[in-house]
Amino acid sequence: MLGKLFGSTSSLPNPRDPGTETTHRHKTVKELRIKPAMLKGIEDLLRGTTMTNLNQAPPDFTALADITSSTLRSTELRKEFKLKIPELLQLERLMREHSSLLQAYREANIQHDAIDFPVYSLTLGSRDPNAPTLLLTGGIHGIERIGSQVLIAWLETLLERLQWDAGLQQQLQQLQLVVMPIMNPVGMFLNQRANGNGVDLNRNAPIDAEGRVPLLGGGHRLGPFLPWYRGRKRGQMEAENIALERVIQRQVFNRPFATVLDLHSGLGMQDRLWFPHAYRKKAIGNVAEYVALKMLWERSYPNHTYLFEPQSIHYLSHGDLWDYFYYQSRAQNQPHFLPLTLEMGSWLWVKKSPRQLFNMAGLFNPQIQHRHTRVLRRHIVLLDFMLAATLNHRNWLPDEKQTGILNQAARSLWF
Ligand SMILES: [Zn+2]
Repeated sequence: MLGKLFGSTSSLPNPRDPGTETTHRHKTVKELRIKPAMLKGIEDLLRGTTMTNLNQAPPDFTALADITSSTLRSTELRKEFKLKIPELLQLERLMREHSSLLQAYREANIQHDAIDFPVYSLTLGSRDPNAPTLLLTGGIHGIERIGSQVLIAWLETLLERLQWDAGLQQQLQQLQLVVMPIMNPVGMFLNQRANGNGVDLNRNAPIDAEGRVPLLGGGHRLGPFLPWYRGRKRGQMEAENIALERVIQRQVFNRPFATVLDLHSGLGMQDRLWFPHAYRKKAIGNVAEYVALKMLWERSYPNHTYLFEPQSIHYLSHGDLWDYFYYQSRAQNQPHFLPLTLEMGSWLWVKKSPRQLFNMAGLFNPQIQHRHTRVLRRHIVLLDFMLAATLNHRNWLPDEKQTGILNQAARSLWF
């Protein structure tokens, strides 16, 4: 019924677009098992690809995700996953059940203690290279699993609504949606912030702060035994981040307009929407567009309480992924790449159940059932807004004159 929603594969304009892999879809589950070419890709990844490779076509293993990985897991491992990373099983179920609506790719395979952890990307909607793009990421910090849960719950709703909601179908005919809900599966499995190598993925990009950063928390190179470790100085980024960079190069930087929402949770009393910079206090080049987006949000949803601000007014940090990708976008002449971080204020949950103070996960995730479902509901409006704002960017992006005024507004607000 929704075949026409995403157009026919023959009209695909971009040969590098992974959408051309759709022929695999009709193969049986058994036929989709790991092929030698995929294994080679995984080996390459583990050996490490260089940054320059990222401009090439994605390797074979990013072809349609091998969802049968769930059946390749032993019963024992499945039980362990169910206990420690049920989000991944839920995501794989969505990928199986909605394979006609979304394309799932295994972007990386992270090995830890001889267990394979897939990093998936899911793509929905328009394959037109001019379609605006919304990228959603979650779980970069493994312990902040509520971010992944919010994304998966929203995705589930979206996929259900796409079965019957013509308005939403039309939206997605004109927009590309890319979702990477579980960026750090090993960290999530181990219930820790860092990845399996002890590296904080959001301190790991090759960019240094200009100015003082919080001790340790701003990122350091002392070693993986302390939290917020950036990784080795001249080492390349961690495999999870390389996978993210590859997705961004392949599906985001080559679009005329793109936004990102990266979901986190942290110790604050309020939900915050942060935009770059994290590495310096100066205003970012696109600050007028951020002010326009902030005004659009606040005027459309005056009863919502997110604080919409530059991250740098709170603290500076080294190695921030979105600073890094923002400057990558500038280097590639992508004029409108607007990443945002949602920092869900976890004190809101801790305050109401102080017992959560006594376990690490409780500091970053709501643990009481009704509060948990409330958090899953709470951000739906924001995610729907991001979809609509990305699609309708022409209706709110400031013109030259407005840009001047909004730049002044930004200066008086924050800089
Ligand atoms: Zn975080």
